[in-house]
Amino acid sequence: MPEASTNRIDQAHEAAGPAEPGTPAPHIADLFARDGVTASFEFFPPKSREAADGLYAAISELAPLKPSFVSVTYGAGGSTRELTRDLVLRLIRQTPLHPVPHMTGVCHSPAEIEAMLQAYTAAGVRNIMALGGDAPAGHTGADPYEHFRYGVDMVRAVRAFSDRQLPGNRRLGIGVGGYPEGHAATPNRLLEMDHLKAKVDAGADFIITQLFFDNHDFYDFRERCELAGIRVPVIAGIMPITSTRGMARMAELAAGSRFPAPLLRALRRAGEDPELVRRVGVHWATEQCRDLLDHKVAGLHLYTLNRSTATREIYLTLGVRDSRALA
Ligand SMILES: Cc1cc2nc3c(=O)[nH]c(=O)nc-3n(C[C@H](O)[C@H](O)[C@H](O)COP(=O)(O)OP(=O)(O)OC[C@H]3O[C@@H](n4cnc5c(N)ncnc54)[C@H](O)[C@@H]3O)c2cc1C
Repeated sequence: MPEASTNRIDQAHEAAGPAEPGTPAPHIADLFARDGVTASFEFFPPKSREAADGLYAAISELAPLKPSFVSVTYGAGGSTRELTRDLVLRLIRQTPLHPVPHMTGVCHSPAEIEAMLQAYTAAGVRNIMALGGDAPAGHTGADPYEHFRYGVDMVRAVRAFSDRQLPGNRRLGIGVGGYPEGHAATPNRLLEMDHLKAKVDAGADFIITQLFFDNHDFYDFRERCELAGIRVPVIAGIMPITSTRGMARMAELAAGSRFPAPLLRALRRAGEDPELVRRVGVHWATEQCRDLLDHKVAGLHLYTLNRSTATREIYLTLGVRDSRALA
């Protein structure tokens, strides 16, 4: 690792307080009990030294916000298998942050999933985001869904691993994805809720939602969960728009996301000015967070895109210096 990165991550540790790095993370249920409202930041594993420096700089600036946990994405099919693992292990060993690794089942065998879970639990991970994942574009060869097709298959795998490998201990906390505006593969929204319920019945402890820009979609989703008998906390996924290009990418990645007309009008007023676009996007996300807190959201999950500025500005405008003041 370059020296600059090491210094940055050391600073992150100092900034966030005296917690012992390398100690097992708390179970998600304990984090909810401790924090009332959880705050979490999502990172993706950097693919170059330059990107790693940027990420570690962001982490050192975000650590003082004392998130309940941070999550690290996984490239479906295994494209970031080592990178995700390395970042998770580094966060555990060198910072007081509690990483929750994402795991996707597509293209993996049960033995590969088991090996990843072994490495994570040995390092002190206590919570996993269990996802189905999409087959990589252009995938050829064996059926990518031979062993794991849906998120529920991964929930079962993590649960079975816990029962087998952690007997007597508390099993791993399991998070799953939820889609307030629906998931493209299931146009039938009643059926989709049945599939989400199946994940919770199989052992999921919490739901993190796909990004959304209209809180009504989240509130309606949360109510539909309640009506379906889903009793686990639903954490709201928020992604501040920081550039026009980023917004276009988001529209592709989170296909189906609705961009409300008032947001689009404000962005149109900002025109080509990147700073104005950024301010409009961060203001919109801040208002979403404020409103969600007023409506007793279980947790806020910020898609940071490995940067810190937007998240820090959101906190300041919410009137909080760190996550413990959110509840
Ligand atoms: C918070 C969050 C984090 C994410 N992180 C990552 C990541 O790190 N890496 C990555 O590659 N992707 C990630 N994704 C994207 C996710 O992998 C894709 O959206 C994937 O298509 C859905 O996976 P899932 O486990 O969320 O959904 P699933 O539960 O697998 O559902 C996907 C679709 O299948 C349908 N379905 C479920 N069960 C059945 C069944 N038994 N029969 C028929 N249909 C069924 C559902 O209704 C839905 O339409 C993330 C998504 C979210 C919301």
